[in-house]
Formats: sequence, structure tokens, C-alpha cells
Amino acid sequence: SKEQGSNRASFFDTELMETFNRGMQIESELANALNNDEFYLVYQPQLNVVDNIITGFEVLLRWNNKRLDFVSPAEFIPVAEEKGYIVKTGRWLLQETIKTARSWIDLGLEFGTLSINVSPVELFQKDFRERLLETCVKYDVPPEKIKVEITERTVMNSNAKNITIINDLLADGFKIALDDFGMGYSNFNFLFEFEITTLKLDKSLVEHIKDKKRRLFIESILKLRDYKDFDVIAEGVETKEELDTLVGLGCRRIQGYYFSQPLKRSVAEKFLMDFSNKSAD
Ligand code: C2E
Ligand code: CA
Ligand code: CA
Ligand code: CA
Repeated sequence: SKEQGSNRASFFDTELMETFNRGMQIESELANALNNDEFYLVYQPQLNVVDNIITGFEVLLRWNNKRLDFVSPAEFIPVAEEKGYIVKTGRWLLQETIKTARSWIDLGLEFGTLSINVSPVELFQKDFRERLLETCVKYDVPPEKIKVEITERTVMNSNAKNITIINDLLADGFKIALDDFGMGYSNFNFLFEFEITTLKLDKSLVEHIKDKKRRLFIESILKLRDYKDFDVIAEGVETKEELDTLVGLGCRRIQGYYFSQPLKRSVAEKFLMDFSNKSAD
């Protein structure tokens, strides 16, 4: 009826308003988040399950704001990018990450590498590379301990001059990971043109691992890995079945809830210590 129709319309309006208001609130709260110390980092372990070693941790940003419920990075990072807050936040994250690396080196923990996610806006800042290097020097952390995760979209939407940043970072000794591979923007060109360190298979591939075409796709990437000499890590691994299938295909490096959620720094430290004690037995 007419009445129902208008009810539906107003319900929809309310929902739309709520989404809009939340967006506005995120935007305004984000402006002071860094100054108010609302950000913290979590660290998700990455394992080589064949050699039974921790190869690294991915550093992920978390936002603790009292007025908003949990806001995921997928929700606030795009706003931070658009409003330009990502640059300062990225600088803070870089500093915190390298400080963590220093303190884990001091503790004698074998953590492999720390991977940071870098937005195109950050990567293409003129002083990004310089700051990364300076911070490593300041805390005496070898660039080899830091991996920069970029997505293919970053590179596809930029010009040739910008792209040299990737080779420059590699020349400095930093590692480069290509994130979200197989998510829909993927083309193989990137792999032919750059000597990347790591390719990250997107969770959507892992989620559909029962699909034969996906498995053949993963196998073809692993063949290229053996030829070109980069690492392949699968992310979003949640089940034993996904793990076994991946290992069966020849993918040894695993990240996902099956082994661990992203952990607060002190918990990640404990994870590292427990792991090395277990390996020593
Ligand atoms: P991403 O770089 O692909 O990060 C992996 C995401 O998958 C993380 O979500 C992680 O918590 C989640 N994840 C890990 N294991 C599993 C699993 O087994 N199953 C499932 N379903 N998910 C898993 P998170 O932390 O919510 O981050 C979402 C996205 O936000 C990231 O995707 C990245 O694009 C962006 N992001 C997070 N932190 C930062 C940051 O510091 N800087 C920038 N520029 N982007 C960030
Ligand atoms: Ca990532
Ligand atoms: Ca990813
Ligand atoms: Ca899954």
C-alpha cells in the first residue's frame, strides 16, 4: 500500500542518515586522533610452516575512540587518505614500527621482518624514502628488517617517475611486498617489471581454495616464484583444510587467524618467545 511504501522510504532515509552521520563523525574524530593518542599497532605473525619459523609480522593500525564504536581500518583509512591525515599517521606508524624492531633486536627475538602498509599518498610523498632511511639510522635498524606493502593499484594509477620509488627502496635494502594479489586488479606485468620480495595471495583466493581454477592460478604463481625468486605468502588462512591445501600446492608461508589474530605488541612478544622456546625443544 501507499502507507507501506512511505514507511519503507523513511526507514531507508534513516539508515542513510545514520551512515552519513557516522561518516561525518569519523571524519571529525579522526582530526584529533593522533594528538589524542588514540592509535595503536597490532602485529600479525607470518609463518613458514615447513621450516617452522616466524618469518615476520604485519603491522596493522587500530583506532581506539571513546565516542565511536570499533572502527576498522577499512572504514577509517580511506577517510584518512582523503583528508590527508594519513601522512602524519603514517609517519607515527613508521616511527613506532622501527622502535619495535629495535626493541625486539635488543631482546634477541628473531622476528624476521616487520611489514607496514603504505598508502599511495604516503609512498609518493617526496620525503617518504628519506624519512624511512633516517628513522632506520636513528634507531639503528637495518632496512632489511622492514617490508613495505603496496597494492597494485598504487602502481597502476601512477606514472613511471613515481614507480622508481620501488626500485629505490629495494636498492636501499628495504623489502617490498605486493599486497592483495588476485583480488581483481591483478595483472602479471608488475611481477615482470619489479624484483619484489614478496607476493601476498589475497584472502579471497584462500577463501575459494576449493575452486579448481583458483588452485591452478595459485600453482602458476608458485611456478613463477620458483623462476623469479620471490616469496609467496597466503593471507586470510583460517582453517586446517585451507592450510593443508596451500602447503600441498607448495605455498609454505602463511598468515591468518588459523595461527594468530593480529596481536598487541606485548602479546606478539610473548608469541615470539613461546615460539622460539618450542622450536628449541
Ligand atoms: P590488508 O593489508 O590486506 O590486511 C590484512 C587484513 O586481514 C587485516 O584487517 C587483518 O586483520 C585481516 N586478517 C588477518 N588474518 C585474517 C583471517 O584469517 N581472516 C580474515 N577474514 N581476515 C584476516 P584489518 O587490520 O582490519 O585491515 C584492513 C585493511 O586496512 C588492510 O588490509 C589495509 O589495507 C588497511 N590497513 C590496516 N592498517 C593500515 C595501515 O597502517 N596503513 C594503511 N595505509 N592501511 C592499513
Ligand atoms: Ca597488507
Ligand atoms: Ca592484503
Ligand atoms: Ca576464510
